[in-house]
Amino acid sequence: MVATLRIPGTHSCSRSNRGATAHRKVRNANARSPVWDAALVDCIFQMKALFRSLIIFSAVTLAACGQFGTQPDLQPQRGESQQPPIAHLPFGTPSALAGEDDHLVVHQSHTLSYNNSRGTANWVAWKTTADDLGERRERPLFQPDSSLPNGFRRIQYYDYSGSGYDRGHMLPAADRFANEQLMNETFLLTNIVPQTGDLNQFAWNALESHARALARRGNDVYQIAGVYGEKERLRGKVTVPTNCWKVIAVLGRGQMTITAKTQIIAVDMPNVEGIADEKWDKYKTTVRSIEEKTGLDLFSSLPRELQDKIENR
Ligand code: MN
Repeated sequence: MVATLRIPGTHSCSRSNRGATAHRKVRNANARSPVWDAALVDCIFQMKALFRSLIIFSAVTLAACGQFGTQPDLQPQRGESQQPPIAHLPFGTPSALAGEDDHLVVHQSHTLSYNNSRGTANWVAWKTTADDLGERRERPLFQPDSSLPNGFRRIQYYDYSGSGYDRGHMLPAADRFANEQLMNETFLLTNIVPQTGDLNQFAWNALESHARALARRGNDVYQIAGVYGEKERLRGKVTVPTNCWKVIAVLGRGQMTITAKTQIIAVDMPNVEGIADEKWDKYKTTVRSIEEKTGLDLFSSLPRELQDKIENR
């Protein structure tokens, strides 16, 4: 942009007269004419004006870029973390993302931390807006996640078969009905954990519907869902969690700033049978409580004082 800047009158000064200066310095080293002195003063004056214009232009350009030129999805809120934001995680990455048991996988529709020892994700993060919703689609087959590195355990459809547990979505398929390709990503088995039917089809499902209703009303609904604890293992491979948790931040459309007043929903649900009659809000908890049980730091890019406020209520 700077290259296209033209200040009338200065161009000839800075180019052609500068060339002349070099010649004159050699020829007239001992005797400078008054005409040349006047030209030099004039040239310096014009260069000063050019310099001043450049500074003003740069300041205006920077201000404009700050306002319009950024990608809202990837603009982190200033605070604790200095790390660049990862897709679907504008308010910070909850874990260190180091090693086989905390392995980052970024899909178009969501981002997750895969735990190779568990055979499931630690957590899955995504955003839901009204544009992501749509008519119910035909469900595709569950698929192993081929984006996992060689040597990782790739959980198969049949690893869950006959276990009595549902293949429970973290990012729900219905949060991606608007786009078939994105919905198909929700059927990758890295987005699935073993959940009891009474959890998956009742309280967990009810909160998913609640989050979609918030999106339908025009909000940007940021969600992270995950697991902790170990009940048992399916085929020695897939860890059945004792608990499934979810944290939801409800922001206005395009809004990228969490404040002390932002609506936050946090739940911690037991992965057991016999809870089909329970409402989702029975399992409300604090973000801080989930952090303590999982060892994660949610909203890690926000200032610590702000985290203390939103995570303890
Ligand atoms: Mn936190």
